[in-house]
Amino acid sequence: MSASQDHPPVRTLISPARYAQGPGAIERLGELVAPVGRTPLVVADDTVWSFVGDAVARSFDAAGLPLTRDGFGVYATAAAVDSIADRVREVGADVVVGVGGGSVIDAVKAAGHLAGARWVSVPTVASTDAPCSALSVIYDEDGGFEEYRFFPHNPDLVLVDTRLVANAPVKFLVAGVGDALATWIEARAVARGDGTTMAGGAPTATGTALARLSWDILWEHALPAIDAVRDHLVTPSVEKVVEANTLLSGLGFESGGLAAAHAIHNGLTAASQTHGLTHGQKVNIGSVTQLVLEGAPVEEIRAFVEFTTRVGLPNTLTEIGLTPGDVDDLTRVAELATAEGETIHAMPFAVRVPDLVDALRSIEGFSRRVRADAGLPEPVPHRAH
Ligand SMILES: [Zn+2]
Repeated sequence: MSASQDHPPVRTLISPARYAQGPGAIERLGELVAPVGRTPLVVADDTVWSFVGDAVARSFDAAGLPLTRDGFGVYATAAAVDSIADRVREVGADVVVGVGGGSVIDAVKAAGHLAGARWVSVPTVASTDAPCSALSVIYDEDGGFEEYRFFPHNPDLVLVDTRLVANAPVKFLVAGVGDALATWIEARAVARGDGTTMAGGAPTATGTALARLSWDILWEHALPAIDAVRDHLVTPSVEKVVEANTLLSGLGFESGGLAAAHAIHNGLTAASQTHGLTHGQKVNIGSVTQLVLEGAPVEEIRAFVEFTTRVGLPNTLTEIGLTPGDVDDLTRVAELATAEGETIHAMPFAVRVPDLVDALRSIEGFSRRVRADAGLPEPVPHRAH
């Protein structure tokens, strides 16, 4: 992710070859996978398979594709990736299709790359912006961040059935909003500096604009979409928010650039108190902290805290199982967040550990005051499980 010594970085935008979204889209999976490969391996855990299996089988049958389905565990660990890659070789698959949440999709991308197959993302929730990218995040057995793995191309197909997204528990959509709100905050910081992006170059105006569009859609549509999904309804707001969480945030983070918020998320995964929280919940703590760290206008931070409280995202340490007094834990988080190679170094200024620790400790009092002033509920403590 660093520029060559002799040349300025090349502006780069990358994307999946095809993105398809709509209610009932899963019924078209076979038809859209067929041009990518003729011998697919589908990876989905038993719970996901119980509600998509019939539709996938029908669509594969109609497209004349054989169906082989493998299960999946919990995290995209190096071992999980290796075992899927082994199965791709065993089955002789030319395309591997990940169906489910961010973890199975990340594992399938990494396995497809290792085994020399193409890969397809079929998110059944809109909880992260993982599905569209040409990278995977690898975790350890406890869900701790291990590494980013980068691939030479994005998925050939990303297919999202908004009916499935609306039928899933609303907490997944809320998490996706947290992940997607960070995209503009981070892309904006990268564009201000001379940072490089996850696409391996300088940001294009296009990548940065897509991050901004994701933000604008979420401020307008996130609350009505969350209400609709709570009742398992697909409305135009739901369609827009699913696209913002999945496609726009995916293109925006990858080609617009990550900065402090995701580095702070990665640091937080090492604090056992945060276990059991979603990616998007931890990312939102990173977003608030980044806004503080960069000295964003107070009105802007205040509005962000109010909005994310209404969305149902954490913006205090209490809500992620920590307190401002946990200085040792927060120092460890800050050390990991500022490790060599972390995206925090794409910020337009150098971030030092003590500054990050103070920013993290400050969000408790700030967010509590904002919430009290706005008549919003007090934070509920998170208990790790
Ligand atoms: Zn993310």
